[in-house]
Amino acid sequence: MQPNHDPETIEIIGSTLTQILTQYYQEKVDEPVLAYRTKSQIMAQFHCDEPPYEGRPLQEVIETFRSEILPLSVKTWHPGFLNQMFAGASYPSIIGDLLASMMNPTMATWEMSPVATLIEQNIAQWMAQLIGMPKGSGGIFLPGGTVSNLLALTVARNRYLSPEVRDRGLCHVPPGAIICSEASHYSIASAANLLGIGLDQVFRVPVNRRQEMDAGCLRQMIEHVRSKGLNPFAVVATTGVTVTGGFDPLAEIAAIVKDAQIHLHVDAAFGGGLAFSDRRSLHFSGIEHADTVSWDAHKWMHTPLTCSVLLVPDPTILEQTFSLKADYLFHPQQEDLLADLGKSTILCGKRFDALKIWLLWHTYGTQYFANLANERLAVMERLDHWIAADTEFHMDYRMVSPICCFTYTHEAMNQLDTEDRLNFSNQMHRSVREDVKHSGSALFNITKLNGRDQFRMVFINPLTDYEYLVGLMENIRARCRQYVNRHLG
Ligand SMILES: *Cc1c(COP(=O)(O)O)cnc(C)c1O
Repeated sequence: MQPNHDPETIEIIGSTLTQILTQYYQEKVDEPVLAYRTKSQIMAQFHCDEPPYEGRPLQEVIETFRSEILPLSVKTWHPGFLNQMFAGASYPSIIGDLLASMMNPTMATWEMSPVATLIEQNIAQWMAQLIGMPKGSGGIFLPGGTVSNLLALTVARNRYLSPEVRDRGLCHVPPGAIICSEASHYSIASAANLLGIGLDQVFRVPVNRRQEMDAGCLRQMIEHVRSKGLNPFAVVATTGVTVTGGFDPLAEIAAIVKDAQIHLHVDAAFGGGLAFSDRRSLHFSGIEHADTVSWDAHKWMHTPLTCSVLLVPDPTILEQTFSLKADYLFHPQQEDLLADLGKSTILCGKRFDALKIWLLWHTYGTQYFANLANERLAVMERLDHWIAADTEFHMDYRMVSPICCFTYTHEAMNQLDTEDRLNFSNQMHRSVREDVKHSGSALFNITKLNGRDQFRMVFINPLTDYEYLVGLMENIRARCRQYVNRHLG
């Protein structure tokens, strides 16, 4: 059997893909973001088959994808997709993704990926510089912020808990601890689990109403952890808090952490995108003291999932932490000695994710990302004022990045006592969120914040303009009023 590489087949595949892409992106914005079906409806509509013993023509299989999978899937490019911290993906990076799959190198060794290695290192350097890290900083691409955070905390553990951990394990060192905020992303706890630190040794500094770390409590927390006989080897500051988009006060935190001689990890998985904006100095001052920084390009830069980078001031630290012997893979020659990226990570097979950004960056230029970030912030500001002036909608904080958590209240709810009002409000928010989802007009999220259920919208999609958002807010208002009338009227 030979794989079908004849030009005719490839041309058919190419034109089918072009058709699908064109059709997909030309769908009307007023069509639903998802055609909501219950789980049992989907299971009745889409059958998971037995593995086919005999294949079918590729055209036919793609047709099945087009008619059965695509219509039941969420349109993440849609302006009403506000549920996650990514939205859609831009054309050049979709093509970059496809071409990376076509080349299918592994980034583990220089000999397999000479130019790809240079591109990856080059882009990591651009990103480090943009975000304000010192000259000489660089990094490595990883599958997601979760993995970047895990590797960052591994570097921290092996350096600040004890360099012996790598070879001898944890039994010969004092127990370690990680300090983050109450609002840190759950990947920090996940790393504590994987690194043998344990969830109980993750200490959480209180946050304000925008979920930003109270730096005043950090010094005390470090002392508190040390007084328990634990060694706090890492402090994690979040730049772009997952739920609210807030920014931990980095400069203050950096000064405290430096004093205490602990590893400073900056989780900029979301907030990194603001490095392109005019406000960068506001949020990133202090980052020059970071020992590690993670940044997801698949969030603000709209590359397909996953495309994340772990940045470090001195890239040799990665190799010191992760390099292992593999005689079948790594064959250092004089000239290539430091060039096998596989030694700087835990991954063996490693995708050429950097190609997605390379294509995107060269096609659009830095200016595009700067405009995009500034425009998102302008939309944020207008929406922030609109909500602040409204009598029924309420936010617990002023927005600093395009994530808003808000609640609805109606004067009729005043007749309820405090506890009933809270329960009523929580149920109303859940119910209205489900209603909107079922209608297919938008998909946003719900979260617990400051003790109650709140709507949460992430609007980094360039298609989600101010008018769209206000229209959606009015839609939500109408549904909330209806809910109040039905239950309290
Ligand atoms: C999104 C996010 C993560 C997780 O990144 P993934 O790429 O989804 O694994 C971690 N931290 C923060 C602050 C995030 O916003």
